[in-house]
Amino acid sequence: MRVIKGKLVAVSPLHVGVGVSHGGIDNPTARVMIKGEMGWEEKFYIPGSSLKGALRARFEEFARAKGIHICNIFNSECIEDEKKEEEMCPACRTFGNQKIASKVRVMNAFGINVRSSTQPGVALGRTTGAVVHGPFEIEYVAPGSSFTFEMIIRDMSKEDPRMKILDEIFTEMKNGNFQLGGKKSTGFGKVKLEVESDVEV
Ligand SMILES: [Zn+2]
Repeated sequence: MRVIKGKLVAVSPLHVGVGVSHGGIDNPTARVMIKGEMGWEEKFYIPGSSLKGALRARFEEFARAKGIHICNIFNSECIEDEKKEEEMCPACRTFGNQKIASKVRVMNAFGINVRSSTQPGVALGRTTGAVVHGPFEIEYVAPGSSFTFEMIIRDMSKEDPRMKILDEIFTEMKNGNFQLGGKKSTGFGKVKLEVESDVEV
């Protein structure tokens, strides 16, 4: 399997929320309590599931741009009764579905050096554009903040077309152009991957 370790650095403000208020902030960035050298401490983190979801979404975009068919999760063609794994689409064969396990595992990314701030936000009605509630505070992680990164890819050779798409995504991440979390349309969530090791084990 291939193990990639490194650091994720926020290039623009980053908001990966959890949807519950915290310490008077309505829309906080995800935090977790972890036990460190100094005892229990609260750390910012990016859930591995959020990272994996963002990677899958980008994988699907890259694959579709190459004319590769990717299933629509709403009509769930890949999980029909008689479907064998090799008949499923490359996104399911990489990131899994209800029937098959993921070949990709992404660990929670814990804050190494994180500065956070808040800015006022409003929620807009979907159809009218009218403000339905707010203003409220959105917490974000400031540019320059860094997180651990670890990802494992198994049962996939270097030459596999799926690995080639993953490598394209890694290139985008190394260039600081990969986006993650909320408010992406306003330029939030750009992260840069600094690879520390990338090995077959
Ligand atoms: Zn599929």
